Amino acid sequence: MALAMHERDRLQQLAKEVRGILGGATRTDGSPKTFDEMESDSIEVADLIGTSMLESNVQDAQEPSGTCRCPTCDRLSPRHDDAEPRVLQTDRGEVAWLEAEYFCRRCRRSFFPSHGKVGAARGSDGERAGRA
Ligand SMILES: [Zn+2]
Repeated sequence: MALAMHERDRLQQLAKEVRGILGGATRTDGSPKTFDEMESDSIEVADLIGTSMLESNVQDAQEPSGTCRCPTCDRLSPRHDDAEPRVLQTDRGEVAWLEAEYFCRRCRRSFFPSHGKVGAARGSDGERAGRA
């Protein structure tokens, strides 16, 4: 993805706001930060923003429908009341979201329509978190 000029401008404005939140080049005691500290701040912020954006996008990408076709028999199947917690380790950090689960009565199995569309394209296979 290449950022458009207006998107770059807006993100650079946000970077100035983030810099203000973190105190810029100065520590809380007023002494100057080292380059390593400033780099570490930048990496931590980039990872946090990246994973937050990814979590929101993954959640939004879920199909809101109350039914979905079973991948085995193509029968319309109802959505479970409970969503499945999913956790994926990405290059930028851990990303967690709730994934819609459906159940086919004919095949007697639950399935996740987002498999193959949302999930582990790189890195780990996305372990499933235990149910609460
Ligand atoms: Zn089925």
